[in-house]
Amino acid sequence: MFTPLVQQLIDHLRCLAGVGPKSAQRIAFQLLERQREAGLTLASTLHEALTKVGHCQRCRTFSENPLCGLCASKTRNIHQLCVVENPADVYALEQTHSYSGLYFVLMGHLSPLDGIGPEEIHIPALKQLIQQESIQELILATNPTVEGEATAHYIANLLKDTPTRCSRIAHGVPLDGELGYLDVGTLSRALTLRTAIDLS
Ligand SMILES: [Zn+2]
Repeated sequence: MFTPLVQQLIDHLRCLAGVGPKSAQRIAFQLLERQREAGLTLASTLHEALTKVGHCQRCRTFSENPLCGLCASKTRNIHQLCVVENPADVYALEQTHSYSGLYFVLMGHLSPLDGIGPEEIHIPALKQLIQQESIQELILATNPTVEGEATAHYIANLLKDTPTRCSRIAHGVPLDGELGYLDVGTLSRALTLRTAIDLS
């Protein structure tokens, strides 16, 4: 129906997450009709990023340099390490301005049914990093999902008999939230992990 090159463009656009056949057609036509320059910039950026961006040697987040900006920084607390599932989690935590330690990005979570074990999420590298850099506190900030909890448990277990202190981020009632609208799991967790009111 379309000429070979147009069809090829549509087919390749479908490799993008969430882009189905209809969306791929729409994007292709839009690029060809109205956004040629933007499309060419996208193509060259895509090529450059995909050939140059690798993983930070220390925390494994995406980086085109051997060390990412955070790992190379001299102002971070090198005794604290926060373990997250994805680079987006690092960005989210940095937005809080509440943490000044370093990170380790697993790039996923344990999922034995999908063949993702400790090796696939780089647990050996994490263990080595903790030992080499004498990390005092490890903050497990994996997602509060079944897999995220299992991953946090697995890592905490590995460090059971080491001097490194392990903590898990708290989960509970969102700020400005109403209890009546919360799911049972969140509410039950909030109640179990209640904290004393600080009156000082
Ligand atoms: Zn890094």
